[in-house]
Amino acid sequence: MNKVAHYLQEHLLGEVTTNSEVRRYFAFDKSILHLAPAIVAYPRTEEDIRKTANFCWQLAKRGQIIPITPRGAGTDTSGAAIGPGIMLVFPAHLNKILNLDVKKKTIAVEPGVTYDVLTQTLFSHQLFLPPQPNQTYATIGGGVANNSFGEKSVKYGPTKKYVRSLRVVLANGEVIETGPLNKRELSRKMGLTTFEGEIYRALDKLLEENQQIIQESRDRFTHIANSAGYNIFGVKSNDNFDLTPLIVGSQGTLAVISEATLAVENHNPQTTLCLASLPKLDSLAELLPQIKQLKPSVLDFINQPALQLIASLNPNELTDFPTDLNSAIHLIIEFDHQKSGQQKDALKKLDRLITSADGTLAASTNPSEQAEILKIKQSPATIVNFTKGPAKAVPVAEAVAVPDNQVYEYLRRAYDTYHKVGLPPAAWGQIGSGIVRFQPLLDLAKVSDRQKLFKISDSLYSLAVKFGGSITAGAGDGRLRAPYLKLQYGESLLSIMQAVKKIFDPYGLLNPGVKTATPAEVKGLMRTDYSPGRHFEHLYR
Ligand SMILES: Cc1cc2nc3c(=O)[nH]c(=O)nc-3n(C[C@H](O)[C@H](O)[C@H](O)COP(=O)(O)OP(=O)(O)OC[C@H]3O[C@@H](n4cnc5c(N)ncnc54)[C@H](O)[C@@H]3O)c2cc1C
Repeated sequence: MNKVAHYLQEHLLGEVTTNSEVRRYFAFDKSILHLAPAIVAYPRTEEDIRKTANFCWQLAKRGQIIPITPRGAGTDTSGAAIGPGIMLVFPAHLNKILNLDVKKKTIAVEPGVTYDVLTQTLFSHQLFLPPQPNQTYATIGGGVANNSFGEKSVKYGPTKKYVRSLRVVLANGEVIETGPLNKRELSRKMGLTTFEGEIYRALDKLLEENQQIIQESRDRFTHIANSAGYNIFGVKSNDNFDLTPLIVGSQGTLAVISEATLAVENHNPQTTLCLASLPKLDSLAELLPQIKQLKPSVLDFINQPALQLIASLNPNELTDFPTDLNSAIHLIIEFDHQKSGQQKDALKKLDRLITSADGTLAASTNPSEQAEILKIKQSPATIVNFTKGPAKAVPVAEAVAVPDNQVYEYLRRAYDTYHKVGLPPAAWGQIGSGIVRFQPLLDLAKVSDRQKLFKISDSLYSLAVKFGGSITAGAGDGRLRAPYLKLQYGESLLSIMQAVKKIFDPYGLLNPGVKTATPAEVKGLMRTDYSPGRHFEHLYR
C-alpha cells in the first residue's frame, strides 16, 4: 500500500498519509461499525479526485482492487463513511462556495462545505436551504449522498428536491455533469464512446426493460420519506432522463460528487413556534394529517419516556418547563408563512385541534420565549451525547419513516418491542415527515446488549416495512441497514438496484460493502466501544 500512497503523493496536489493515528481516526463514523482506511487523502481539486479514481481503475483492470471512500464530516450513522482502501476527505480543502445566484435562487458548492457555512451565507441574503441534518457541521457532499432530511422537510421536502445538478467523478476518473436531459440530449449522450456513454446506454436499457415494475412501485416508495437503496424511480420520465436522482442518496457508491448546484428558498425569520402537549398517544392518528394541512414548517415530537430518561440523566435540564412533562407526547410546531396573518390563522386552527384532543398549547412569536420551547426540542441531545457509564445511545433503527396515517400504530408496536427487551421506548424525531428516532442506551461490549440491538433492529425495520414505510430516511442504509433492503424492496427491485451499481462501478471500487453488506459482514465490523464523542474533523496539518 505504501507504493500506492507514494504514487498518490507524487501526483495529487492534496496531502496523502498512511499515518496510523490518522487512519485510526477515520476508522470511525457515527455508526456502531469500524473499518480503518489504508490511505487517507485530502484532495485539493477535482483533478485530485479524478486522478485517484483513474489510478484505482487502471489497477482494477489488472486485478488489484483498491476501494475509494468519499468522506464528509463522518456523521453518517449507517457505517457508510468508513472503508478499507483510500479515503478521500473533503472538508479540508474542497470547502468553497462557488457561486450564489440570488435571482435564480441557486447555489453551487464544493462537497466539503458545511451546512453551518452554507446557512450563514444564505441567511445574509434572506435565503436558506431547507433540508438540513441535525448535525450542522455535516457537509453538503454527505447530505446529498445521504439524501438528508431535516426538521423543515415536512413542508419543503428532502435534499433530493433541491439538487439541480451535480458534477461527479465516475469510477474510471471521467468527470461528468448530471441534470435533466430531453430526448435529443439523451440520445447524444448515448452516442458517446466514453464510459459516460456506456452508463447512459446500459441504464436506459435497464430502466426500459423494467419499466412496469418501477412504475408500479413508484408511488409506494416516493410518497414516504425514503433514502434507502437507489432512487431508480426518479431517473426516467416521459420528457426527461436525469442521473441526479440516482446519485443523490447513493452514499458514494456510484460516483464521487465534486460539485453540487442546489436550489434554495426565501427565509422568513419571523415564525410562530408552538409546543402542543397531548395526554394520549392515540390522538396522533387523527391529528397528524390535520396539523399537516396547516403547512407547518416544523412538526417534530418527543415522547414522555424520552423526557423521563432525560430527567434521569440530567435532573436539572427540564426544570421550569412551560408544560406538563407527563403528557404522553409533545409536538413542536413552527409556522413560517410569509404573512403574519397566515401564521395567526394557522395557530387558531391548531389551537382548536389540540383542544379537541384534550391537549395544551403554548405558542410564541418572540425569539426569547421560543428559546424555552426549543429547549425541549433539543433535549434528546442529552441522551445522544450521554457518555457516563458503559451504556451509550446507539444509533440503530434511528431514522425509520412511516406514512402519516401509520405513525401511531408504528409507535405503539415499537413501544411493545422496547418493553419486551426491558428498555424505555424513548423516541423523538421529525414526525411530520413520518420519521421516528429511537437511540437505546446499550453497552455493546455486553453480548446481551448486542442481542437486544439485533432484536430491536429486526423488529423496527420489519414494522416500518409492514406499515408501508422505509428502513431509513436521511440516515442512509449504508452497511448497517443493507441486510434489510430486500425486506423493503423485494427481490425484483433490489436486483434492478444491484444492476445499477454494476453499471456505474463494474469493478466494485466505490464504497464497496455500502448498500450490499451481509449480516455476517455487519457483525464482523461491530464496535464494542461505541462512544458518541463529537468528531472534530481531522484536517491535515
Ligand atoms: C446525532 C445525529 C443526528 C442526525 N440527524 C440527521 C437528520 O436530522 N437528518 C438526516 O438526514 N441525517 C441526520 N444524521 C445523519 C448525518 O448527519 C447526515 O446524513 C449528514 O448529511 C451526513 O453528512 P456528513 O458530511 O457527515 O457525511 P459523511 O458521514 O462523511 O458521509 C455520508 C455518506 O456520504 C458519502 N459522501 C460524503 N461525501 C461525498 C462526496 N463528495 N461524494 C460522494 N459521496 C460522498 C460518504 O461516503 C457516506 O456514504 C444525523 C446523525 C447524527 C449522528
